[in-house]
Amino acid sequence: MNESTHGFFGHPIGLKTLFLTEMWERMSYYGMRALLVLYMTGVATGINGGLGWSQMDAQAIYGIYVGMVYFMVVPGGWVADNLLGHQRAVLYGAIIIAMGHLTLAVPVEHSFFLGLALVVLGTGLLKGNISTIVGKLYADDDKRQDSGFTIFYMSINIGSTIGYGICGYLGEKVGWHWGFGAAGVGMIFGVFQYIRNRHLLGDAGASPNPMPEERRQKLLGYTKIAFAIVVVLFALVLTGVVTVEPTVFAENFAYFLTTLAGVYFIYLYFFAGLNVNERKNITLLFLLFIAAAAFWSGFDQSGGSLNIFARDYTDLTYFDFTMPVSWVQFINPIYVVIFAPIFAGLWAQLARRNLDPSLPLKFVIGLVFMGISFLIMLVAVDLALESAPIGLQWLLLTYLFQTWGELALSPIGLSAFARYSPKKYVGQMFGLWFLASAIGGVMAGLLGGEALGDGLNSMSPVFSYMIKYYFVIAVVLVFLSYIIGRKAKSSEEPG
Ligand code: GLN
Repeated sequence: MNESTHGFFGHPIGLKTLFLTEMWERMSYYGMRALLVLYMTGVATGINGGLGWSQMDAQAIYGIYVGMVYFMVVPGGWVADNLLGHQRAVLYGAIIIAMGHLTLAVPVEHSFFLGLALVVLGTGLLKGNISTIVGKLYADDDKRQDSGFTIFYMSINIGSTIGYGICGYLGEKVGWHWGFGAAGVGMIFGVFQYIRNRHLLGDAGASPNPMPEERRQKLLGYTKIAFAIVVVLFALVLTGVVTVEPTVFAENFAYFLTTLAGVYFIYLYFFAGLNVNERKNITLLFLLFIAAAAFWSGFDQSGGSLNIFARDYTDLTYFDFTMPVSWVQFINPIYVVIFAPIFAGLWAQLARRNLDPSLPLKFVIGLVFMGISFLIMLVAVDLALESAPIGLQWLLLTYLFQTWGELALSPIGLSAFARYSPKKYVGQMFGLWFLASAIGGVMAGLLGGEALGDGLNSMSPVFSYMIKYYFVIAVVLVFLSYIIGRKAKSSEEPG
């Protein structure tokens, strides 16, 4: 535990290291993600030609990529817990991510999927484990933990703003591969920063779980075998020996992820030897999980269908300058930076009057805002059907509601999974939290493909369907939260 009290905005000094590392990692992740579908669906000719793939395929690949990134957080957490320790996992992850983006920057055959795979692998090692270390900087009863996660969430959004700005501009205006390369350079800054400031973390997340050396060697052996199998399968796909249909793969991947999450929750509830209080918390986290998965399926449209909506149906020219399509996504992190303190203040105010909404209710608020954002898109699509391009204000408004939803759900979910997870399982529980993002990401790709299958005409039915499930889940959650009807307790408090 890091004991220093005044280090970084009144938080443990180690938060600075994590803040800067996450900032550069998210800069590279979102900067590249913004370009992904634009690059895949861009016409294959011209100075900055894209790959010319269909919307269906491109959106499915985008969904698989986002899903894989977050899914790999699960094995990444396991590797950190058992083999590397979280600090080393973050370091290796950051290096592999940088290699991934630099690979994408090389315009040769196979570099595309190879680069994506490296980013997936590296993010698996970094993303969940860095959040675990944030949690470990605080004692369990340290009231600063929630605001620590809010500060950490700021780093995510400052990073993505830089990413959209730089990678978006270079990728779209200079050349796709320059954009990818810039993401790699950003991550390299992150690596150096982490190496320099790692000592500030103290022993938070420094070593893996204690276990006999013999057992650790055994686990290492299994890990190597699993890794070798994945490499062989990937090589078979990459070289075309095995062909994969993106949409079919994405669908099966979504089923796989959902089953995995279901099995894991059942295991935790029934078989993990948890006490009554811990089990109640698992039920609570399960509800949050469902809401989060639904939420991200809308949120990740920003890099998918809404990205294409911005490109094809929105007027992005001001005076003589046509701004890069990726820049439209700027607005989400900017809103986050503006509204995160306001939301944090609002919750604190309400808490003082004992009116703080329960966790599930905050998630309901998140879903309702997401629903409203797509109601706005329905209007925007109608207007675009009448006469495209339409003004940018529609997307700005859509993203405003999505961001409000995000702030009611995402930083709070992260902190809830840190606080209410059974102590032995915290690392893996972060994996579970990101599994919700994985399911949401794949769904986003599948829904985005459907939405764009027939240009503007196919958008409204898909968006309407999404709005329905946000509201249905929100209503169910309200009911269930009344049934649970109690304030959750940290897993260490007696039940
Ligand atoms: N925007 C947040 C991040 O990048 C959450 C994303 C997610 O979990 N899908 O970390």
